[in-house]
Amino acid sequence: MSRIVGIDLGTTNSLCSVFADGKPQLIPNAHGSVMTPSVVGRLEDGQILVGAAAKDLRVTQPERCVSGFKRWMGTDRETRLGDRTFTPPELSSLVLRSLRDDAEAFLSTNISEAVITVPAYFNDAQRRATRLAAELAGLKARRIINEPTAAALTYGFHEPQADKKLIVIDLGGGTFDVTLMEVFEGTLEIISTAGESFLGGEDFTDRLVATVLKTIGEHVETAELKKPLLVARLREQCERAKCAFHDAEEAVVRIPDEQGEINEHARSARVRRSTFEKVVKPLIDRLKAPVGKALRDGDCSPDEVDEVILVGGATRMPLVSSFAREYLKADPLCSFNPDEVVALGAGIQAALIMDDAAVEDMVMTDVCPFTLGIETVKQFGHHMQEGYYVPVIHRNTTIPVSREEVFSTVYANQNSVRINIYQGEARKVKDNLKLGELSVDGIPPGPAGQQVCVRFTYDINGIIEVEAYLPQTGAKFQTVLTQHAADLTEREIADAVRKMQDVKFYPREDVRNQRLILFCEKIVGEISPLHRQQLEEAIDVFEHSMSSGDRERFEQSRIGLLLMLSQLGIEYEETDDEQ
Ligand code: AMP
Repeated sequence: MSRIVGIDLGTTNSLCSVFADGKPQLIPNAHGSVMTPSVVGRLEDGQILVGAAAKDLRVTQPERCVSGFKRWMGTDRETRLGDRTFTPPELSSLVLRSLRDDAEAFLSTNISEAVITVPAYFNDAQRRATRLAAELAGLKARRIINEPTAAALTYGFHEPQADKKLIVIDLGGGTFDVTLMEVFEGTLEIISTAGESFLGGEDFTDRLVATVLKTIGEHVETAELKKPLLVARLREQCERAKCAFHDAEEAVVRIPDEQGEINEHARSARVRRSTFEKVVKPLIDRLKAPVGKALRDGDCSPDEVDEVILVGGATRMPLVSSFAREYLKADPLCSFNPDEVVALGAGIQAALIMDDAAVEDMVMTDVCPFTLGIETVKQFGHHMQEGYYVPVIHRNTTIPVSREEVFSTVYANQNSVRINIYQGEARKVKDNLKLGELSVDGIPPGPAGQQVCVRFTYDINGIIEVEAYLPQTGAKFQTVLTQHAADLTEREIADAVRKMQDVKFYPREDVRNQRLILFCEKIVGEISPLHRQQLEEAIDVFEHSMSSGDRERFEQSRIGLLLMLSQLGIEYEETDDEQ
């Protein structure tokens, strides 16, 4: 049987794992790091860079790079990189392809199947977009699982005998999920889940960027339009400062010039941790509602929670662990690396699919994170009012689930009905998310009250199917849910796959070198003019040797360039393990 890999397709970083020798293991990328930044860059000649090299390119040429596109999955937003536009699934597929290439190089075998994780709060359109991204990358998504569920699998795998109630607090780069679960003799039962799809570590960085810009009299929106290079580089500085607050009381943020360069005359802003904590307080406050909702839905009080598992890079902020400690009165568990726990769980899920003997005693159940239902009309006297919502599958129902409800026509001889399908908890459909619609026609003539049966099915991947049938005639109607880009016909998918195969990746064996050049280009503008020329010469020699085909000359020039950096006192990490 071919290998199935586990992939954590993150907003900020993505990771890939494989289950081997009885345990999940992370796969290193071409830089030797297990974390690949979810950043895509396109060079002038059209070649694609993914990961650390694209992250470096973003600093000097932000218009050629894109990140954060996981937040646009399920939407029709397009991104222009040079002379081509990309949809969010296409961008995600480039990250997946890069991870697949790394896995193939690491395992020396072809990889065509994966378990991919998504935030529990991803809706149907976002999940379909993820599945499409996999197809575009030449991967079959064997299972799409929720990130906190994957984290729970890692926990359950390592503590098979536990008998506990756990809560997983998952704050990644772009999304926030809370999941309450019970572990009992190898069985993991997800009890309830709640979250917000637009709250993550990136929002904390954004607040810091806005604060620093304010100190120089700039407003973030205007600066983004007028000085994009400054903002792109400042963001990088603020990201670093945010991470430094982990153990420092104060951070110095160096402010780039309009070209995005930071030279010896650059201004800087000192930001105290207390200032940072004050500006991000409203974000921390937003964590409370989903945690409360998950506990209420699970009929569990905070003091019944035995353990808290923190997942996602942004939970490293001391503010988040203090929040967990205060609200749940339990010390967060630190035995798992919050960056890795989800990818490892995806690898365990892959082992479950492959019936690996090491997981034969594990059983897991998951839930549907939100209520699904349809629009209905209500009668007030002689007056009919549209726009009301009737749930068909209630949130936190164990999945897979299939439920049927019977609805009726509202007037005599009504021969068709349009079923509007929604997700959400509100009483009126206008406050919920529309997923799609289904037209039912050919209803036989008759008085009002003719029956239309509607069946909702929510599968283990979190994908919804809606089916209607007329008991009078036996006619069946089935729907495709959204009108978004992810809803392509098989032929359109085949075309899209072909189009993506034409995209040329920067050669994997050269990405380390490309990254070294991009790094040097970034600092050329920052060192003293005295040394600039020396460095430029070393870069030129290295760049030329890359295309010369002379391996020895190339190795020597690479060593020469690295030596030059070290002589100039500039630190360069060959593996990219920074956040
Ligand atoms: P993830 O999507 O799980 O990779 O999480 C990425 C987010 O975690 C980004 O917003 C990072 O800035 C944030 N992050 C990573 N490390 C730290 C840290 N030490 N302190 C604060 N935020 C961090």
